[in-house]
Amino acid sequence: MGAGIWGLVTSNILKDKPENRTNIKIVEQKQYFQFPPSYPWMMLGTRTPNQVQRNLDILKKEIDIIKEDKQQ
Ligand SMILES: Cc1cc2nc3c(=O)[nH]c(=O)nc-3n(C[C@H](O)[C@H](O)[C@H](O)COP(=O)(O)OP(=O)(O)OC[C@H]3O[C@@H](n4cnc5c(N)ncnc54)[C@H](O)[C@@H]3O)c2cc1C
Repeated sequence: MGAGIWGLVTSNILKDKPENRTNIKIVEQKQYFQFPPSYPWMMLGTRTPNQVQRNLDILKKEIDIIKEDKQQ
C-alpha cells in the first residue's frame, strides 16, 4: 500500500491488534518517507529534503518494507 502517511498509520494500527500474529508488509518504491505538507517549505527553500523525510529503516521490526515499484 506504499509507505505514505496512510500506509504507515494503517500498518501501525494493524500491528498493534492482538489478533495479528503475522508480520505486516508494505510495498514501497522509495527508501524513505516524506511528509507532503512540508513540500511548500522545500519549494520556498526554508527546508531541505533531509528535514522533511525519514529513512524507512526506523519502522518497527514487525513491519516489513518490500522495496519495489509495484504496478498492479
Ligand atoms: C502541501 C500539502 C499540505 C497538506 N496538508 C494536509 C493537511 O493539513 N491535512 C491532511 O489531512 N492532509 C494534508 N495533505 C494531504 C496528505 O499529505 C495526503 O492526503 C497524504 O499524504 C496521502 O497519503 P497516502 O499514504 O494516501 O499517499 P502518499 O503520501 O502519496 O503515499 C503513497 C506512497 O506509495 C508509494 N507508491 C506509489 N506508487 C507506487 C508503486 N507503483 N509501487 C510502490 N510504491 C508506490 C509512494 O512512493 C508513496 O510513498 C497535504 C498535502 C500537501 C501536498
